[in-house]
Amino acid sequence: MKAVLETWDLCYTYNGETLALNHVTVAFYKGERVAVLGNNGAGKSTFFSMLNGLRKPDSGGVKYNGAPIGYSRKELIGLRQKVGEVFQEADRQIIAATVEAEVSFGPMNLKLPREEAVRRTSGAIRYMNLDGYERRSPHCLSGGEKKRVSIAGVIAMEPEILLFDEPTASLDPYHIAQLEETLERMHREGRTLVISTHDVEFAYRWADRVLVFHQGRLAADGTPEQVFSNQELLKQACLKQPVLWQAAALLAERGLLAPEKGFPKTVKELSRLL
Ligand code: ADP
Repeated sequence: MKAVLETWDLCYTYNGETLALNHVTVAFYKGERVAVLGNNGAGKSTFFSMLNGLRKPDSGGVKYNGAPIGYSRKELIGLRQKVGEVFQEADRQIIAATVEAEVSFGPMNLKLPREEAVRRTSGAIRYMNLDGYERRSPHCLSGGEKKRVSIAGVIAMEPEILLFDEPTASLDPYHIAQLEETLERMHREGRTLVISTHDVEFAYRWADRVLVFHQGRLAADGTPEQVFSNQELLKQACLKQPVLWQAAALLAERGLLAPEKGFPKTVKELSRLL
């Protein structure tokens, strides 16, 4: 299968001293759901900033659809239509005075015909259930609402790949559930989703594939089952096993669950397997 986005031998150092990425080679395929784990300072945000051309690697590179990305203004505008990022801090992303202006900012910048920009803006507003919010100031919204506005701004660009930097960090369980519904919808539409998170429970139930960063290196790239069964890796990267995984492993050990039938991703699945 051909990768939609890939990096090869990516290295990046801040100010010539902090090595943030150390020879990272990884490929993403259409429609994948990828969780990126790693403790603070492991290199996840820096890695994302390489994928959408926000920073240029010291060595190695990034390819989109098989072609190395370029860093001219025009090439970067083109890349960001395809690879959108939802930043962790909505306040860092949001710049406009109203929700409508914020969501339309990207399409307007693309110099699309006005009707097309309007169509994309209202489509993205509807997509994120923000009807009625158009004239409100994004800065006066709740954390969950702001997150929806920043996602709408990215959706309006109609990207093929979406990067989310710790999207669940500031959300309560209700808004996390809402976000998961949105992610499910994006997945059904065939988009490639890459999410950095500290939430191993979320990574385990949601991802098809898990990447683990540790001290700027890609320490693991595998299925959730491969990653969460690797005790040594988890210890090295200071990660915990998901509680449901631990419970299932215990039940399998006691002969109450047949591991060959697969490990449950939800309590409902566990109940069905028992
Ligand atoms: P993560 O997203 O996994 O927390 P980061 O990519 O933010 O990791 O950080 C990787 C390393 O780069 C860390 O050592 C961090 O201190 C350093 N770093 C990140 N951003 C900057 C910056 N703007 N200037 C200098 N060092 C930075």
